[in-house]
Amino acid sequence: MRQPFTRELQDLLERGRDRQLRLAVTGLSRAGKTAFLTSLVNQLRHAGLEARLDLLPAAREGRLLGARRISQQDLGVPRFPYDQAMAALSATAPRWPEPTRGISELRLTIRYRPARPGLLGGDSRQLTLDLFDYPGEWLLDLPLLGLDYPEWCARQHTLEGSQRAAHFADWQAAVARLDLAAEADEAQLAEISEHFAAGLRSAREAGFADLQPGRFLLPGDLSGAPVLQFFPLPGVCDTAPSVLASLSESSNYATLARRFRYYQQHVVRPFYRDHFRRFDRQIVLVDLLGALNAGPERFQDLSRALANLMQSFDYGQRSLLSRLFAPRIDRLAIAATKADHVTPEQHPRLVALLEALLAEPLKDLRYADVPVRALSLAAIRASESREVESQGRRTPALRGTGLDGEPLLIYPGEVPERLPDDAFWTRQGFDFPAFRPLPMEDGALPHIRMDAALDWLIGDKLT
Ligand code: GDP
Repeated sequence: MRQPFTRELQDLLERGRDRQLRLAVTGLSRAGKTAFLTSLVNQLRHAGLEARLDLLPAAREGRLLGARRISQQDLGVPRFPYDQAMAALSATAPRWPEPTRGISELRLTIRYRPARPGLLGGDSRQLTLDLFDYPGEWLLDLPLLGLDYPEWCARQHTLEGSQRAAHFADWQAAVARLDLAAEADEAQLAEISEHFAAGLRSAREAGFADLQPGRFLLPGDLSGAPVLQFFPLPGVCDTAPSVLASLSESSNYATLARRFRYYQQHVVRPFYRDHFRRFDRQIVLVDLLGALNAGPERFQDLSRALANLMQSFDYGQRSLLSRLFAPRIDRLAIAATKADHVTPEQHPRLVALLEALLAEPLKDLRYADVPVRALSLAAIRASESREVESQGRRTPALRGTGLDGEPLLIYPGEVPERLPDDAFWTRQGFDFPAFRPLPMEDGALPHIRMDAALDWLIGDKLT
């Protein structure tokens, strides 16, 4: 007799409680965050109608009734520009949406029918989903919180690798002229900082990712502020700490060290304290195919950047993050994006490569008991998979339209299953062009495995 009563009470409580989930999307620039969030909102808006979401049980079972945008709670965070993104994709010559540059938010309510209707009837329930999008570059700054200025300088890879160092030649020449002990020269510091920031920007344009500090690339409202006018000092570790500490408070060195501390306290910390700490779930997007296309130095650089970025999800008891902020992310997805750039039989290899690249951070996460899943997806599929016959053999191919409007039929190559070795790079059996989005038809955006991502990220809340 007791059990039905308990169930009934539980149902009532569930219904009374407004259920909420805060889901964050991140990735380095051009990883595909804007496309992902646009598609996610679009799929949920069309759920129960045209959206193809078979891997999400609530949708497959016809229980997902749809989603609606509502006003967000935090008025200080810009709204994610969903309508502008859809307008670009729906143009006569469809365009990719303009990427977002800082943090943005969008709030949805999702209506669904529970898998097991309560004793009080099979009525619908509601989940409030807060979606956040923020630059992965900001996460590259976490390790900076645990370092003092000379330690941070020593760990920079600014001049490592000839292709990378080339972007910083002007800065290198300018910083070599700086006298650390002299009275701070504001104009000189501003000029060297600008060379440094310009080096970061040009390295990023060239596809490098392991770039710090993150806000120098995406300064938002801090553009031009003195807090962004510092830079690492090459070779500062060769000077004894006692000598550095004895330099006057008004010296160039002490001014830079002060700005570094200010950046830690007033830029990096507030992001973790005010936003990151409050996310429940997180997906990290990785443009692995783009890095494969760009060659060994950039692939290596992405690997270092990701190892750095993943520290933000290492919740081991003694991790920097747990000590400082007690975050509560209880489920993580890591996705290789733009999977429509390779033929479908390559998709499992793409996931295997992602897992190989993130082997160490994934081990740490599993050890810390954070549920994590790696997958490959295309948020907005821009190609169609075909088979072509050549010399009596059928081979897989992709059909799409290039950014310049040219029709394309290509076989982009094989994705290596393991971390690529020298032989892979010398063969370089991998090359693909960018596709223009497919013309919009009525209904939901075409995708690959957005439903699998949705199932992992919110599926358990729709049962
Ligand atoms: P963000 O900087 O992380 O917001 O990246 P975006 O979402 O703006 O994506 C960067 C670029 O990657 C886009 O302009 C597209 O060219 C491409 N892209 C993103 N998602 C997809 C996808 O699912 N398929 C294809 N083919 N290209 C994509």
